[in-house]
Amino acid sequence: MIIDGKQISQSLKDAMKIEVDALAEQYGRRPCLMVIIVGNNPASRSYVRGKIKATEYCGFDGHLVELPEDVSEATLLAEIDKLNNDPLVDGILVQLPLPKHISEDKVIAAISAEKDVDGFHPENVARLWLNQHCILPCTPKGIIELLDQAGVEIAGKKAVVIGRSNIVGKPVAKLLLDRNATVTIAHSRTKDLAAVCREADILVAAVGRAKMVTAEYVKPGAAVIDVGINRTEDGKLVGDVDYEAVLPVAGAITPVPGGVGPMTITMLMRNTIECFLNRENKKA
Ligand code: NAD
Repeated sequence: MIIDGKQISQSLKDAMKIEVDALAEQYGRRPCLMVIIVGNNPASRSYVRGKIKATEYCGFDGHLVELPEDVSEATLLAEIDKLNNDPLVDGILVQLPLPKHISEDKVIAAISAEKDVDGFHPENVARLWLNQHCILPCTPKGIIELLDQAGVEIAGKKAVVIGRSNIVGKPVAKLLLDRNATVTIAHSRTKDLAAVCREADILVAAVGRAKMVTAEYVKPGAAVIDVGINRTEDGKLVGDVDYEAVLPVAGAITPVPGGVGPMTITMLMRNTIECFLNRENKKA
């Protein structure tokens, strides 16, 4: 079974569009997402375009704030502060990576935790690991949603996550654990990675190396979630999984493109609605 992230994403966005119209009616305003981009990195530009497009599709307010590559850290922090204090702004996202002269840690921590739609703020990360109410990071949240939508059972299953980054590997592992999977986190120092992965009923690859997951990594019937985004020499977008080789072995698999990627943006929209509702309900 191919898990069609694009189609699942589309139906979730269609439902949110209707929900947002109802929220506008009820609260007299629409959820508002502000996206900040610094400089002209082409990949960042393309991601941001996708986010703004989804924002418009779902009927949110908000727009793109464009700052030049050489903007000072102080100016960026002042812009974030302005948005933090704007009562009509629900979500703030600063597109990463940032130019070297700006501290990403400082920027992430500067965004008000209640408007941190990426779920990267230390307060949200801590809350996730403490099982407290928090804003979940979009890619991990999207992966769980994909598994649910595809009807993949998580509880009681063995899951292996390859990659231990703060934005994908570790939070995906935590969310799978919260759904009662038995989770192994594998990484670049894991010995006999193929054997470790072959144990998995659910295999999540979040590495950033084209075609590293071959058929020998996959237990027959396993669900394979490919988070990787890589470019081949001829410019083609591919994941971490050797898709053609793994497709006949896996029970379910996400393609690249059209798998996890669209779900990440859709979960950003979901998080914006959740931030809106949290803020409105606090007022009540
Ligand atoms: P990262 O570079 O921070 O982490 C990569 C991880 O892979 C590390 O923990 C490392 O230990 C592990 N690793 C590296 N080489 C390995 C090897 N040979 N064997 C086993 N493990 C190895 O990357 P990240 O930010 O977690 O992103 C991972 C991939 O997911 C990238 O391709 C990125 O572009 C993609 N990504 C996609 C989305 C999306 O929405 N689809 C979102 C975020 C990241």
